[in-house]
Amino acid sequence: MTTENSDVRMERRQFLKACSVTMGCLLATHSLKAMSNPVPTSLRRPNILFIFSDDHSHNSISAYESKINKTPNIDQIANEGAVFTNSFCTNSICQPSRATILTGKHSHLNGVTYNGSRWNSQQLVFPRLMQKEGYKTALIGKWHMKPDPSTEFGYWKVLSGSGGQGRYYNPQFNSAKGLETITGYSTDVITDQAIDWLDNNRTEQEPFMLMVQFKSPHVPRRPAVRHLELFKDVEIPEPETLFDDYKTRHPYAEKAWMQISGLNEEVTNIFPPKNSDIPLNNKQKEFLSRLSKEDREKFHQAYDSENQKYYEMKKNGALDDKKVRTKYFYQRFIKDYLRCVTAIDENVGRLLDYLDQNNLSDNTVVVYSSDQSYYIGEHGWAEKRWMYEESLSMPFVIRWPKKIQSGQRIHKLIQNMDYAPTFLEMANIKVPQEIQGSSLLPLLSGDPKNVKWRKAIYYHYYHHGAHNVPRHDGVRTQRFKLIHFYTDNVYELYNLKEDPYELNNIYEAPDSQKTKQRMLELLNQLREEYKVPESVFKPPYVFPR
Ligand code: CA
Repeated sequence: MTTENSDVRMERRQFLKACSVTMGCLLATHSLKAMSNPVPTSLRRPNILFIFSDDHSHNSISAYESKINKTPNIDQIANEGAVFTNSFCTNSICQPSRATILTGKHSHLNGVTYNGSRWNSQQLVFPRLMQKEGYKTALIGKWHMKPDPSTEFGYWKVLSGSGGQGRYYNPQFNSAKGLETITGYSTDVITDQAIDWLDNNRTEQEPFMLMVQFKSPHVPRRPAVRHLELFKDVEIPEPETLFDDYKTRHPYAEKAWMQISGLNEEVTNIFPPKNSDIPLNNKQKEFLSRLSKEDREKFHQAYDSENQKYYEMKKNGALDDKKVRTKYFYQRFIKDYLRCVTAIDENVGRLLDYLDQNNLSDNTVVVYSSDQSYYIGEHGWAEKRWMYEESLSMPFVIRWPKKIQSGQRIHKLIQNMDYAPTFLEMANIKVPQEIQGSSLLPLLSGDPKNVKWRKAIYYHYYHHGAHNVPRHDGVRTQRFKLIHFYTDNVYELYNLKEDPYELNNIYEAPDSQKTKQRMLELLNQLREEYKVPESVFKPPYVFPR
């Protein structure tokens, strides 16, 4: 495979060199467009379509064996390609995950260690390398980092407002042309914009790399009007760990501010029914005022009876019991969450249809992923951040017809820092040494069992104190996980094979001492290998800059 790749790479380089002699890049591009003969198949590099969402739990994707919903279009990518069953992030929160994807590096090297870090737009990012090598590149949707893009992509149009989160209804975007508000539902509008860009920018000669990034199903989880009645009269099964008592852990888990029972009215679509004398609070007012008169009417039709019941339960004290409150808010939360996921899946379907209709499916790599997975009730939570499985994970399914065998389930340990080198290698672009991730192509191109691959991943969460979660780092192998809450120098150790829900911390167990030593050594090795600075482990634990 290496020989074939280098032959193709050499052919392509000669081809590009011939095109750029004397005319410069711009003229070469125009001459390419004008050529009557299409690029020979052997020289054609794949398009990359990276579809990404925010806070989408792999436990709500049927390709990951969801017990509570179906995602037929994401499943189609998985069925026609591969599912990575052990896919993880390096730092479970929005901005750091995005920065790691773009740079192929851990947070301490790309500078985005927490939400609010300043993004250094001039650093190495894979889209710029692809653009230099003749790719049309674009990011459309949620960017979230500060500042907005400059030269990272050939084109960008990113959600603006609500701290870069954008709004679910009639979202505002920023682009090189300035601010614009587009009527419609966020997930639909982002897909419309992506299809519009493809329609107007594709050429036969230039491959594209397009990142379509949804805000959904991030809080405050407003579903599309067409999905408001979905799941209305059904009870969604509760996760096994909804009533976790955290008893073998250090007290952090118990004290985290992310309990399902603590969800508030604004993030669960609770608002006073029509003609009620209950006053609207400011957030309810702001949300409802963004809706058209017709849509507002539909929200009332769908939610008023349930909300009426909520206000009655609140008044008579029925929700004062924590267990009752947890069960009640789990149903409210999960239904809106799954409604948002349904719109994502439909829009994934629209993008796949577009590729089919434009004869692009065969030569386009399609990925579906999310910046991290999410607790959708597991351990009693609705959040991310921890190194525990549900938020350490990232969904990652990938399709490349005729190149990737269909129906694969790959169990090797991968991370979001692997995406950049994967896309670069697929495009026959040399992967710079400084990138810390590894291309997934060898795992996809042959029998993963025969590929020499990492035996452990390194994780580091920096956003100390947010949601009352302390900074921590750790190491995970196929079987064990060691977490170091280094601000207090305490550890947790889990045997993932015997205890997949991580309910039994075995760090102090007498028969775990050998494993403990081995995992402690591994943690030190990985800190060194990934060049984690000593200073981050020392107080004061303020956000690094
Ligand atoms: Ca996120």
